[in-house]
Amino acid sequence: MAIQLKWPILGVIIPCILIAGIGYGAHFFVFSRHMSLVDQIWFQVYMTMVWISYILAIVKDPGSPPKNFQPNSGEWRRWCKKCQNYKPERTHHCKTCNKCVLKMDHHCPWTYNCVGHGNIAHFLRFLLWVIFTTGITFVELSKRAVQYYKDSDLPSYLISKSEMFAVIFLLPVDFFVLASITVLLIRCVKDMFFMGMTQIEGWEMERIESQFHTERMWARIRRNYYKLHGKELPRLTSWNRTQRYYENTKDENTVNDDANDNDQSGVPEEFTTDDLIFPYDRGLWKNIIDSCGMPWTWILPWGGPSSDGYHFDKTEFMDEDQLGLPWPPDGGHQDIEVEEPDVSQMVVGNRTNIKMLKKRLDPRSTMKRTEWRSDAGETLDDLGVDVEAEDEDELMVKVQ
Ligand SMILES: [Zn+2]
Ligand SMILES: [Zn+2]
Repeated sequence: MAIQLKWPILGVIIPCILIAGIGYGAHFFVFSRHMSLVDQIWFQVYMTMVWISYILAIVKDPGSPPKNFQPNSGEWRRWCKKCQNYKPERTHHCKTCNKCVLKMDHHCPWTYNCVGHGNIAHFLRFLLWVIFTTGITFVELSKRAVQYYKDSDLPSYLISKSEMFAVIFLLPVDFFVLASITVLLIRCVKDMFFMGMTQIEGWEMERIESQFHTERMWARIRRNYYKLHGKELPRLTSWNRTQRYYENTKDENTVNDDANDNDQSGVPEEFTTDDLIFPYDRGLWKNIIDSCGMPWTWILPWGGPSSDGYHFDKTEFMDEDQLGLPWPPDGGHQDIEVEEPDVSQMVVGNRTNIKMLKKRLDPRSTMKRTEWRSDAGETLDDLGVDVEAEDEDELMVKVQ
């Protein structure tokens, strides 16, 4: 869940106190007595890298679109009401930074900055250095704790009280930081490296999947398709047709028994979320390079992606994209009204119908994008996006 601090500056002060307290506290009370001088110097090098990457994550601008930015042909014309400017693909307006942020991932209260195109590499490096340094600290402090246990028979005057109190106090604090930063890193990297998505795009994909069965979504997609291509959306097919065909013929009472793919208001029967092509997922290796730059720059404090942040390379599977629309395909027409099927008439006779009934009863099915919540309870607003600037009812496609 998103964290809102009453005084935003605390978002920077708290991490500084934790970094300094754990790092220098452990060094002064414990490492200085039990580590070789060379190891102590290395530990301070790691601490310096934590500070450098943290400062860069705070001060480095994620980047904003230039004034009078013009989208390319075939892209959404996304207008930012606050900046009075067009937004490039993947750009969102941050409510805290009060500006449009290129390839916005989320607004981070702990760096008092947005994480986006220009600083995502600094942010990830900061998380990595914190994990590395708190990991070493955890191992060394644990060794001391085990030693105290082994020495429990020794007279107490042989054990340094200040050192023991430091270990007892710092060990759980260090573990808390190590565990929480590891979770945060996994969360960032999972979407970005494995799927080529920012956290906002991961949220968007979850929304699309949760509304994929609704007529409202397909009415929007069909309108967008007609606007861009000047013709009706063609019949969609699934790469996984055999499996779905098997399921549908086995279950007699499937919800979409009477659905017709040629019915321009209906939900296509043979098109699943697996058939959606997310345009920016270029495979693990290219996804890492797209967000963090070339491998030899990863560890360097100034390394980062080489692209401009306005235009992004697309996956090589774009020619398999049947929707042929900019991402997200249901962009715009948020106020569209569609009569959804009456759930009271649904026959709950088999597994498919129960699953579909659950989906239809979920109030999020018909929610506007700006109101929708993920399974983790997050709205677009929680990720830092200014939802007023994000209202895309007027979204237009620039026809070539
Ligand atoms: Zn803006
Ligand atoms: Zn921001």
